[in-house]
Amino acid sequence: MARKQHHVVIIGGGFGGLYAAKALRKVDVDVTLIDRRNHHVFQPLLYQVATAALNPSEIATPIRTILRSQANARVVLANVLGVDPRTKRVQLQGRDIPYDTLILAAGATHSYFGRDEWATVAPGLKSIEDAVEIRRRVLLAYEAAELEEDPAQRKAWLTFVIVGAGPTGVELAGALREIATHALEDDFRSIDPAEARVLLLEGTDRVLMSYTPDLSAEAERALTGLGVEVRKSARATNIDAKGVYIGKEHIPARTVLWAAGVAASPLAKTLGVPLDRAGRVIVDQDLTVPGYPDVFVIGDLAACNQPDGKLVPGVASAAVQEGRHAAENIRRKLENEPLLPFRYDDKGSLATIGRAAAVADFGTIKLHGFVAWLAWLFVHVFLLIGFRNRFFVIAQWAWSYVTYERGARLITGETPGFVALAMAAQHSPEQLITDGSPEAMNAAAATALPANVGSAQLVSPSGATGETLPIQGK
Ligand SMILES: Cc1cc2nc3c(=O)[nH]c(=O)nc-3n(C[C@H](O)[C@H](O)[C@H](O)COP(=O)(O)OP(=O)(O)OC[C@H]3O[C@@H](n4cnc5c(N)ncnc54)[C@H](O)[C@@H]3O)c2cc1C
Repeated sequence: MARKQHHVVIIGGGFGGLYAAKALRKVDVDVTLIDRRNHHVFQPLLYQVATAALNPSEIATPIRTILRSQANARVVLANVLGVDPRTKRVQLQGRDIPYDTLILAAGATHSYFGRDEWATVAPGLKSIEDAVEIRRRVLLAYEAAELEEDPAQRKAWLTFVIVGAGPTGVELAGALREIATHALEDDFRSIDPAEARVLLLEGTDRVLMSYTPDLSAEAERALTGLGVEVRKSARATNIDAKGVYIGKEHIPARTVLWAAGVAASPLAKTLGVPLDRAGRVIVDQDLTVPGYPDVFVIGDLAACNQPDGKLVPGVASAAVQEGRHAAENIRRKLENEPLLPFRYDDKGSLATIGRAAAVADFGTIKLHGFVAWLAWLFVHVFLLIGFRNRFFVIAQWAWSYVTYERGARLITGETPGFVALAMAAQHSPEQLITDGSPEAMNAAAATALPANVGSAQLVSPSGATGETLPIQGK
Protein backbone atom coordinates (compact mmCIF):
# COMPACT_ATOMS: atom_id res chain seq x y z
CA MET A 1 0.00 0.00 0.00
CA ALA A 2 1.27 3.49 -0.86
CA ARG A 3 2.51 5.36 2.20
CA LYS A 4 0.38 8.36 3.10
CA GLN A 5 2.55 11.46 2.80
CA HIS A 6 3.30 13.49 5.89
CA HIS A 7 1.17 16.63 5.59
CA VAL A 8 2.75 19.96 6.53
CA VAL A 9 0.30 22.86 6.74
CA ILE A 10 1.80 26.35 6.70
CA ILE A 11 -0.33 29.32 7.74
CA GLY A 12 0.97 32.52 6.16
CA GLY A 13 2.78 33.19 2.89
CA GLY A 14 4.91 36.03 4.25
CA PHE A 15 8.67 35.78 4.71
CA GLY A 16 8.57 32.95 7.27
CA GLY A 17 5.90 30.75 5.69
CA LEU A 18 7.02 31.16 2.11
CA TYR A 19 10.68 30.36 2.80
CA ALA A 20 9.63 27.36 4.91
CA ALA A 21 7.53 26.06 2.00
CA LYS A 22 10.40 26.54 -0.44
CA ALA A 23 12.84 24.79 1.90
CA LEU A 24 10.51 21.76 2.00
CA ARG A 25 10.78 21.37 -1.78
CA LYS A 26 12.99 18.28 -1.61
CA VAL A 27 11.55 16.83 1.61
CA ASP A 28 9.20 13.87 1.31
CA VAL A 29 6.09 15.72 2.49
CA ASP A 30 2.93 17.32 1.11
CA VAL A 31 2.84 21.03 1.80
CA THR A 32 -0.34 23.12 2.01
CA LEU A 33 0.28 26.85 2.34
CA ILE A 34 -2.76 28.87 3.42
CA ASP A 35 -2.94 32.65 3.17
CA ARG A 36 -5.86 35.04 3.21
CA ARG A 37 -4.21 37.08 0.48
CA ASN A 38 -3.16 35.63 -2.86
CA HIS A 39 0.17 37.44 -2.81
CA HIS A 40 3.44 37.58 -0.92
CA VAL A 41 4.31 41.18 -0.02
CA PHE A 42 7.82 42.55 0.26
CA GLN A 43 6.93 44.65 3.31
CA PRO A 44 10.23 46.60 3.49
CA LEU A 45 9.19 48.43 0.31
CA LEU A 46 5.55 49.10 1.29
CA TYR A 47 6.37 52.70 2.15
CA GLN A 48 7.44 53.20 -1.48
CA VAL A 49 3.94 52.24 -2.59
CA ALA A 50 2.40 54.43 0.13
CA THR A 51 4.42 57.38 -1.15
CA ALA A 52 3.71 56.76 -4.84
CA ALA A 53 7.22 55.71 -5.87
CA LEU A 54 6.36 52.11 -6.75
CA ASN A 55 3.24 50.31 -7.91
CA PRO A 56 1.77 47.51 -5.78
CA SER A 57 2.55 44.79 -8.32
CA GLU A 58 6.25 45.67 -8.14
CA ILE A 59 6.52 44.56 -4.53
CA ALA A 60 3.94 41.79 -4.43
CA THR A 61 3.89 38.45 -6.25
CA PRO A 62 1.12 35.83 -6.35
CA ILE A 63 2.01 32.99 -4.01
CA ARG A 64 0.80 30.48 -6.62
CA THR A 65 3.31 31.89 -9.10
CA ILE A 66 6.16 31.56 -6.62
CA LEU A 67 5.31 27.95 -5.80
CA ARG A 68 4.03 26.78 -9.18
CA SER A 69 7.05 24.68 -10.01
CA GLN A 70 7.14 23.05 -6.58
CA ALA A 71 5.25 19.79 -7.11
CA ASN A 72 4.79 18.95 -3.43
CA ALA A 73 3.19 22.32 -2.55
CA ARG A 74 -0.36 23.51 -2.98
CA VAL A 75 -1.75 26.94 -2.15
CA VAL A 76 -5.09 27.64 -0.46
CA LEU A 77 -6.58 31.14 -0.43
CA ALA A 78 -8.52 31.30 2.84
CA ASN A 79 -8.78 33.14 6.10
CA VAL A 80 -7.71 30.87 8.96
CA LEU A 81 -10.01 31.27 11.95
CA GLY A 82 -8.12 29.17 14.47
CA VAL A 83 -5.93 26.18 15.20
CA ASP A 84 -6.78 23.22 17.43
CA PRO A 85 -3.44 21.65 18.36
CA ARG A 86 -5.13 18.78 20.25
CA THR A 87 -7.05 17.46 17.22
CA LYS A 88 -4.34 18.77 14.84
CA ARG A 89 -6.75 20.73 12.66
CA VAL A 90 -6.71 24.19 11.12
CA GLN A 91 -10.12 25.87 11.08
CA LEU A 92 -11.28 27.73 7.98
CA GLN A 93 -14.73 29.15 7.27
CA GLY A 94 -16.93 26.08 6.73
CA ARG A 95 -14.18 23.44 6.78
CA ASP A 96 -11.15 22.13 8.64
CA ILE A 97 -7.78 21.06 7.27
CA PRO A 98 -5.94 18.31 9.18
CA TYR A 99 -2.16 18.41 9.55
CA ASP A 100 0.65 16.17 10.70
CA THR A 101 2.94 19.16 11.28
CA LEU A 102 1.91 22.81 11.43
CA ILE A 103 4.05 25.88 10.76
CA LEU A 104 2.27 28.94 12.05
CA ALA A 105 3.65 32.08 10.39
CA ALA A 106 0.75 34.54 10.47
CA GLY A 107 2.89 37.55 11.39
CA ALA A 108 1.79 40.67 13.22
CA THR A 109 -0.68 43.47 12.84
CA HIS A 110 -0.95 47.11 14.07
CA SER A 111 -1.32 47.81 17.75
CA TYR A 112 -2.94 51.08 18.81
CA PHE A 113 -2.13 50.42 22.46
CA GLY A 114 -5.78 49.90 23.36
CA ARG A 115 -7.01 52.88 21.27
CA ASP A 116 -8.41 50.91 18.35
CA GLU A 117 -10.68 53.84 17.42
CA TRP A 118 -7.55 55.59 16.11
CA ALA A 119 -7.29 53.02 13.30
CA THR A 120 -9.77 54.93 11.09
CA VAL A 121 -8.06 58.28 11.45
CA ALA A 122 -4.45 57.07 11.57
CA PRO A 123 -3.94 54.08 9.27
CA GLY A 124 -0.88 51.89 9.73
CA LEU A 125 1.24 50.28 7.03
CA LYS A 126 1.21 46.51 6.85
CA SER A 127 -0.47 45.43 3.62
CA ILE A 128 -0.83 46.57 0.01
CA GLU A 129 -4.33 47.79 0.89
CA ASP A 130 -2.87 49.96 3.69
CA ALA A 131 -0.24 51.38 1.34
CA VAL A 132 -2.79 52.27 -1.34
CA GLU A 133 -5.06 53.87 1.28
CA ILE A 134 -2.16 55.96 2.64
CA ARG A 135 -1.20 57.01 -0.88
CA ARG A 136 -4.81 58.01 -1.49
CA ARG A 137 -5.00 60.10 1.67
CA VAL A 138 -1.68 61.84 1.05
CA LEU A 139 -2.48 62.77 -2.55
CA LEU A 140 -6.06 63.82 -1.70
CA ALA A 141 -4.76 66.10 1.04
CA TYR A 142 -2.92 68.19 -1.58
CA GLU A 143 -6.03 68.23 -3.80
CA ALA A 144 -8.17 69.43 -0.88
CA ALA A 145 -5.60 72.05 0.10
CA GLU A 146 -5.56 73.38 -3.46
CA LEU A 147 -9.32 74.03 -3.23
CA GLU A 148 -9.46 75.17 0.39
CA GLU A 149 -9.86 78.90 0.92
CA ASP A 150 -9.59 79.04 4.68
CA PRO A 151 -5.85 79.39 5.54
CA ALA A 152 -6.11 77.41 8.79
CA GLN A 153 -7.92 74.55 7.06
CA ARG A 154 -5.42 74.63 4.20
CA LYS A 155 -2.59 74.39 6.68
CA ALA A 156 -4.24 71.40 8.33
CA TRP A 157 -4.52 69.65 4.96
CA LEU A 158 -0.83 70.33 4.38
CA THR A 159 0.23 68.93 7.75
CA PHE A 160 1.24 65.27 7.83
CA VAL A 161 1.90 63.66 11.19
CA ILE A 162 3.61 60.30 11.54
CA VAL A 163 3.37 58.66 14.93
CA GLY A 164 6.41 56.49 15.69
CA ALA A 165 10.02 57.01 14.57
CA GLY A 166 11.04 53.40 13.98
CA PRO A 167 12.29 52.44 10.50
CA THR A 168 8.82 52.70 8.91
CA GLY A 169 8.08 56.13 10.44
CA VAL A 170 11.48 57.45 9.43
CA GLU A 171 11.13 56.13 5.87
CA LEU A 172 7.62 57.58 5.49
CA ALA A 173 8.62 60.97 6.89
CA GLY A 174 11.60 61.34 4.55
CA ALA A 175 9.55 60.29 1.51
CA LEU A 176 6.64 62.63 2.39
CA ARG A 177 8.98 65.61 2.58
CA GLU A 178 10.46 64.69 -0.78
CA ILE A 179 7.01 64.51 -2.33
CA ALA A 180 6.34 68.00 -0.97
CA THR A 181 9.59 69.55 -2.10
CA HIS A 182 10.20 67.79 -5.42
CA ALA A 183 7.56 65.50 -6.89
CA LEU A 184 4.65 67.97 -6.59
CA GLU A 185 6.76 71.09 -6.96
CA ASP A 186 5.10 72.57 -10.08
CA ASP A 187 1.78 70.79 -10.04
CA PHE A 188 -0.49 73.15 -8.11
CA ARG A 189 -1.56 76.76 -8.60
CA SER A 190 -3.06 77.87 -5.27
CA ILE A 191 -0.70 76.11 -2.88
CA ASP A 192 3.01 75.62 -2.63
CA PRO A 193 3.45 71.91 -1.80
CA ALA A 194 6.86 72.69 -0.31
CA GLU A 195 5.04 74.40 2.55
CA ALA A 196 3.74 71.03 3.71
CA ARG A 197 4.76 70.21 7.27
CA VAL A 198 5.85 66.68 8.05
CA LEU A 199 6.01 65.96 11.77
CA LEU A 200 7.53 62.80 13.12
CA LEU A 201 6.47 62.05 16.70
CA GLU A 202 8.54 59.71 18.84
CA GLY A 203 7.68 58.74 22.41
CA THR A 204 11.29 57.95 23.39
CA ASP A 205 14.25 60.30 23.33
CA ARG A 206 15.64 59.29 19.92
CA VAL A 207 14.60 58.12 16.47
CA LEU A 208 15.42 54.57 15.32
CA MET A 209 15.61 53.26 18.88
CA SER A 210 16.85 49.82 17.73
CA TYR A 211 20.00 51.41 16.21
CA THR A 212 23.05 52.74 18.03
CA PRO A 213 22.76 56.31 19.40
CA ASP A 214 25.23 57.69 16.83
CA LEU A 215 23.25 56.24 13.91
CA SER A 216 20.03 57.59 15.49
CA ALA A 217 21.68 61.02 15.57
CA GLU A 218 22.74 60.68 11.91
CA ALA A 219 19.21 59.68 10.95
CA GLU A 220 17.74 62.65 12.81
CA ARG A 221 20.22 64.98 11.11
CA ALA A 222 19.24 63.63 7.69
CA LEU A 223 15.53 63.98 8.48
CA THR A 224 15.94 67.53 9.70
CA GLY A 225 17.96 68.32 6.56
CA LEU A 226 14.97 67.23 4.49
CA GLY A 227 12.71 69.52 6.50
CA VAL A 228 11.03 66.91 8.70
CA GLU A 229 10.12 68.26 12.15
CA VAL A 230 11.27 65.59 14.58
CA ARG A 231 9.51 65.71 17.96
CA LYS A 232 11.11 63.38 20.53
CA SER A 233 9.63 62.40 23.91
CA ALA A 234 6.28 63.33 22.34
CA ARG A 235 3.51 60.79 22.80
CA ALA A 236 0.22 61.13 20.93
CA THR A 237 -2.43 61.19 23.64
CA ASN A 238 -5.39 61.51 21.29
CA ILE A 239 -5.97 61.37 17.55
CA ASP A 240 -9.12 62.34 15.70
CA ALA A 241 -10.16 63.50 12.23
CA LYS A 242 -8.91 66.99 13.02
CA GLY A 243 -5.44 66.18 14.25
CA VAL A 244 -3.25 64.91 17.05
CA TYR A 245 -2.99 65.83 20.70
CA ILE A 246 0.28 65.66 22.60
CA GLY A 247 -1.06 66.23 26.07
CA LYS A 248 -2.78 69.62 25.87
CA GLU A 249 -1.06 70.64 22.64
CA HIS A 250 -3.20 70.15 19.54
CA ILE A 251 -1.63 69.78 16.09
CA PRO A 252 -4.30 70.34 13.41
CA ALA A 253 -3.60 67.74 10.71
CA ARG A 254 -5.84 65.97 8.22
CA THR A 255 -3.38 63.17 7.55
CA VAL A 256 -2.04 61.13 10.44
CA LEU A 257 -0.15 57.90 9.86
CA TRP A 258 0.51 55.23 12.46
CA ALA A 259 3.95 53.64 12.67
CA ALA A 260 4.13 53.07 16.40
CA GLY A 261 3.14 49.60 17.50
CA VAL A 262 2.73 46.02 16.37
CA ALA A 263 0.75 43.19 17.93
CA ALA A 264 0.92 39.48 17.17
CA SER A 265 -1.73 37.89 14.95
CA PRO A 266 -4.80 36.88 16.98
CA LEU A 267 -4.28 33.32 15.72
CA ALA A 268 -1.66 32.90 18.47
CA LYS A 269 -4.39 32.99 21.12
CA THR A 270 -6.32 30.14 19.53
CA LEU A 271 -3.46 27.73 20.30
CA GLY A 272 -4.22 28.06 24.01
CA VAL A 273 -0.52 28.16 24.98
CA PRO A 274 1.53 30.75 26.93
CA LEU A 275 2.09 34.03 25.07
CA ASP A 276 4.41 36.93 25.86
CA ARG A 277 3.20 40.48 26.55
CA ALA A 278 3.05 41.32 22.85
CA GLY A 279 0.84 38.25 22.25
CA ARG A 280 3.60 36.20 20.59
CA VAL A 281 3.89 32.45 21.11
CA ILE A 282 6.80 31.57 23.40
CA VAL A 283 8.62 28.85 21.47
CA ASP A 284 11.35 26.37 22.44
CA GLN A 285 14.83 26.72 20.98
CA ASP A 286 13.90 24.32 18.14
CA LEU A 287 10.95 26.66 17.27
CA THR A 288 8.27 24.19 18.42
CA VAL A 289 5.58 25.09 20.91
CA PRO A 290 6.08 23.60 24.41
CA GLY A 291 3.76 20.59 24.74
CA TYR A 292 3.06 20.46 20.99
CA PRO A 293 6.11 19.08 19.15
CA ASP A 294 4.14 19.08 15.88
CA VAL A 295 3.56 22.82 15.93
CA PHE A 296 6.28 25.27 14.84
CA VAL A 297 5.75 29.01 15.23
CA ILE A 298 8.07 31.34 13.30
CA GLY A 299 8.59 34.94 12.24
CA ASP A 300 6.91 37.94 13.87
CA LEU A 301 4.49 35.64 15.70
CA ALA A 302 7.22 33.79 17.62
CA ALA A 303 8.95 34.90 20.80
CA CYS A 304 12.23 33.01 20.50
CA ASN A 305 14.95 33.59 23.08
CA GLN A 306 18.59 33.32 22.04
CA PRO A 307 21.30 31.97 24.39
CA ASP A 308 22.35 35.58 25.16
CA GLY A 309 18.83 36.18 26.50
CA LYS A 310 17.88 38.49 23.62
CA LEU A 311 14.72 37.88 21.61
CA VAL A 312 15.08 37.19 17.91
CA PRO A 313 13.99 40.50 16.32
CA GLY A 314 10.82 40.86 14.26
CA VAL A 315 12.55 41.41 10.95
CA ALA A 316 12.35 39.77 7.55
CA SER A 317 15.74 38.04 7.69
CA ALA A 318 14.87 36.41 11.03
CA ALA A 319 11.55 35.16 9.62
CA VAL A 320 13.34 33.73 6.55
CA GLN A 321 15.97 31.98 8.69
CA GLU A 322 13.32 30.59 11.03
CA GLY A 323 11.27 29.35 8.06
CA ARG A 324 14.25 27.47 6.68
CA HIS A 325 15.14 26.17 10.14
CA ALA A 326 11.62 24.85 10.80
CA ALA A 327 11.73 23.06 7.43
CA GLU A 328 15.10 21.50 8.30
CA ASN A 329 13.81 20.37 11.69
CA ILE A 330 10.77 18.76 10.02
CA ARG A 331 13.12 16.84 7.73
CA ARG A 332 15.22 15.78 10.74
CA LYS A 333 12.16 14.64 12.66
CA LEU A 334 10.97 12.49 9.75
CA GLU A 335 14.43 10.91 9.54
CA ASN A 336 14.57 10.38 13.32
CA GLU A 337 17.41 12.84 13.82
CA PRO A 338 17.45 15.19 16.83
CA LEU A 339 16.02 18.67 16.23
CA LEU A 340 18.49 21.55 16.18
CA PRO A 341 18.16 24.77 18.18
CA PHE A 342 17.64 27.94 16.14
CA ARG A 343 20.45 30.53 16.16
CA TYR A 344 19.75 33.89 14.54
CA ASP A 345 22.51 35.05 12.21
CA ASP A 346 22.18 38.84 12.42
CA LYS A 347 23.40 40.27 9.12
CA GLY A 348 22.68 43.84 10.19
CA SER A 349 19.95 46.40 9.74
CA LEU A 350 19.30 49.18 7.29
CA ALA A 351 16.86 52.08 7.26
CA THR A 352 16.56 54.61 4.48
CA ILE A 353 15.83 58.32 4.85
CA GLY A 354 14.81 59.82 1.56
CA ARG A 355 16.24 59.22 -1.88
CA ALA A 356 19.94 59.19 -1.12
CA ALA A 357 20.53 58.72 2.60
CA ALA A 358 20.29 55.76 4.94
CA VAL A 359 21.80 54.29 8.06
CA ALA A 360 23.28 50.80 8.15
CA ASP A 361 24.43 48.78 11.14
CA PHE A 362 26.45 45.70 10.14
CA GLY A 363 27.89 45.12 13.62
CA THR A 364 31.46 46.36 13.44
CA ILE A 365 30.74 48.33 10.28
CA LYS A 366 28.35 51.26 10.62
CA LEU A 367 27.49 53.43 7.64
CA HIS A 368 25.37 56.45 6.98
CA GLY A 369 24.58 58.78 4.08
CA PHE A 370 24.85 57.84 0.42
CA VAL A 371 27.03 54.72 0.90
CA ALA A 372 24.46 53.30 3.34
CA TRP A 373 21.72 54.11 0.85
CA LEU A 374 23.55 52.19 -1.89
CA ALA A 375 23.84 49.21 0.49
CA TRP A 376 20.11 49.52 1.26
CA LEU A 377 19.27 49.63 -2.46
CA PHE A 378 21.41 46.61 -3.27
CA VAL A 379 20.04 44.48 -0.41
CA HIS A 380 16.40 45.31 -1.09
CA VAL A 381 16.52 44.78 -4.81
CA PHE A 382 18.47 41.55 -4.34
CA LEU A 383 15.86 40.20 -1.91
CA LEU A 384 12.83 41.06 -4.05
CA ILE A 385 11.16 37.98 -5.41
CA GLY A 386 11.17 37.64 -9.19
CA PHE A 387 13.37 39.01 -11.95
CA ARG A 388 10.49 41.11 -13.31
CA ASN A 389 10.06 42.93 -10.02
CA ARG A 390 13.79 43.56 -9.67
CA PHE A 391 13.98 44.92 -13.20
CA PHE A 392 11.00 47.26 -12.77
CA VAL A 393 12.06 48.48 -9.34
CA ILE A 394 15.58 49.31 -10.53
CA ALA A 395 14.16 51.07 -13.57
CA GLN A 396 11.64 53.06 -11.48
CA TRP A 397 14.28 54.04 -8.95
CA ALA A 398 16.79 55.09 -11.56
CA TRP A 399 14.09 57.23 -13.22
CA SER A 400 12.89 58.87 -10.01
CA TYR A 401 16.47 59.35 -8.83
CA VAL A 402 17.27 61.41 -11.88
CA THR A 403 13.92 63.20 -12.26
CA TYR A 404 12.54 63.29 -8.68
CA GLU A 405 9.31 61.97 -10.24
CA ARG A 406 6.95 59.65 -8.39
CA GLY A 407 5.46 57.59 -11.15
CA ALA A 408 2.71 55.90 -9.17
CA ARG A 409 0.76 59.01 -8.19
CA LEU A 410 -2.67 57.51 -8.72
CA ILE A 411 -5.64 58.38 -6.55
CA THR A 412 -7.72 55.23 -6.78
CA GLY A 413 -11.49 55.13 -6.28
CA GLU A 414 -13.85 57.88 -7.34
CA THR A 415 -12.32 61.34 -7.13
CA PRO A 416 -14.38 63.17 -4.53
CA GLY A 417 -15.93 66.54 -5.19
CA PHE A 418 -14.72 69.44 -3.13
CA VAL A 419 -17.85 69.30 -0.99
CA ALA A 420 -16.98 65.83 0.17
CA LEU A 421 -13.41 66.85 0.90
CA ALA A 422 -14.28 70.02 2.78
CA MET A 423 -16.87 68.07 4.67
CA ALA A 424 -14.33 65.49 5.70
CA ALA A 425 -12.25 68.35 7.05
CA GLN A 426 -14.92 69.84 9.21
CA HIS A 427 -16.65 66.80 10.61
CA SER A 428 -15.75 63.50 12.15
CA PRO A 429 -15.09 60.69 9.67
CA GLU A 430 -18.56 59.29 10.26
CA GLN A 431 -20.34 62.48 9.21
CA LEU A 432 -21.16 63.51 5.66
CA ILE A 433 -22.46 66.77 4.28
CA THR A 434 -24.92 65.91 1.52
CA ASP A 435 -28.17 67.24 0.24
CA GLY A 436 -29.73 64.90 2.77
CA SER A 437 -30.61 61.99 0.50
CA PRO A 438 -29.26 58.48 1.15
CA GLU A 439 -28.19 58.27 -2.53
CA ALA A 440 -26.06 61.39 -2.22
CA MET A 441 -24.69 60.06 1.04
CA ASN A 442 -23.66 56.76 -0.55
CA ALA A 443 -21.98 58.54 -3.43
CA ALA A 444 -20.06 60.81 -1.07
CA ALA A 445 -19.31 57.98 1.37
CA ALA A 446 -17.76 55.86 -1.36
CA THR A 447 -15.11 58.48 -1.94
CA ALA A 448 -14.71 60.39 1.28
CA LEU A 449 -14.84 57.82 4.05
CA PRO A 450 -12.34 55.14 5.03
CA ALA A 451 -13.38 51.72 3.74
CA ASN A 452 -14.21 50.33 7.17
CA VAL A 453 -16.80 52.98 8.08
CA GLY A 454 -20.16 51.23 7.76
CA SER A 455 -22.58 54.03 8.54
CA ALA A 456 -22.59 57.81 8.49
CA GLN A 457 -24.55 60.65 9.96
CA LEU A 458 -26.14 63.07 7.51
CA VAL A 459 -25.13 66.68 8.00
CA SER A 460 -26.89 69.36 6.00
CA PRO A 461 -24.78 72.03 4.27
CA SER A 462 -25.89 74.44 7.00
CA GLY A 463 -24.40 72.13 9.63
CA ALA A 464 -27.59 70.60 11.11
CA THR A 465 -27.09 66.95 11.94
CA GLY A 466 -29.62 64.34 10.83
CA GLU A 467 -30.12 60.58 10.85
CA THR A 468 -27.34 57.99 10.91
CA LEU A 469 -27.79 55.62 7.98
CA PRO A 470 -25.90 52.50 6.88
CA ILE A 471 -23.73 52.95 3.80
CA GLN A 472 -24.86 50.62 1.04
CA GLY A 473 -22.69 47.59 0.39
CA LYS A 474 -20.78 47.82 3.69
C1 LIG B 1 6.14 48.68 6.61
C2 LIG B 1 7.11 47.62 7.03
C3 LIG B 1 8.46 47.76 6.74
C4 LIG B 1 9.37 46.79 7.13
N1 LIG B 1 10.69 46.96 6.81
C5 LIG B 1 11.56 45.99 7.11
C6 LIG B 1 12.93 46.10 6.70
O1 LIG B 1 13.32 47.09 6.08
N2 LIG B 1 13.76 45.08 7.01
C7 LIG B 1 13.33 43.96 7.69
O2 LIG B 1 14.12 43.05 7.92
N3 LIG B 1 12.08 43.84 8.10
C8 LIG B 1 11.16 44.81 7.83
N4 LIG B 1 9.87 44.70 8.23
C9 LIG B 1 9.48 43.54 9.05
C10 LIG B 1 9.26 42.30 8.22
O3 LIG B 1 8.48 42.60 7.09
C11 LIG B 1 8.59 41.25 9.09
O4 LIG B 1 9.44 40.96 10.17
C12 LIG B 1 8.31 39.98 8.31
O5 LIG B 1 7.39 40.23 7.28
C13 LIG B 1 7.76 38.89 9.22
O6 LIG B 1 7.50 37.77 8.45
P1 LIG B 1 6.33 36.77 8.86
O7 LIG B 1 6.36 35.65 7.88
O8 LIG B 1 6.41 36.46 10.30
O9 LIG B 1 4.98 37.62 8.68
P2 LIG B 1 4.41 38.35 7.40
O10 LIG B 1 5.46 38.58 6.39
O11 LIG B 1 3.66 39.51 7.92
O12 LIG B 1 3.39 37.30 6.78
C14 LIG B 1 2.24 36.86 7.45
C15 LIG B 1 1.31 36.26 6.42
O13 LIG B 1 0.24 35.62 7.11
C16 LIG B 1 -0.97 35.89 6.46
N5 LIG B 1 -2.04 35.77 7.47
C17 LIG B 1 -2.14 36.46 8.63
N6 LIG B 1 -3.24 36.06 9.30
C18 LIG B 1 -3.84 35.13 8.54
C19 LIG B 1 -5.03 34.35 8.69
N7 LIG B 1 -5.82 34.47 9.77
N8 LIG B 1 -5.37 33.49 7.71
C20 LIG B 1 -4.59 33.37 6.60
N9 LIG B 1 -3.46 34.06 6.42
C21 LIG B 1 -3.09 34.93 7.37
C22 LIG B 1 -0.79 37.29 5.94
O14 LIG B 1 -1.68 37.55 4.86
C23 LIG B 1 0.67 37.30 5.52
O15 LIG B 1 0.83 36.93 4.16
C24 LIG B 1 8.93 45.65 7.85
C25 LIG B 1 7.57 45.50 8.15
C26 LIG B 1 6.67 46.47 7.74
C27 LIG B 1 5.20 46.30 8.05
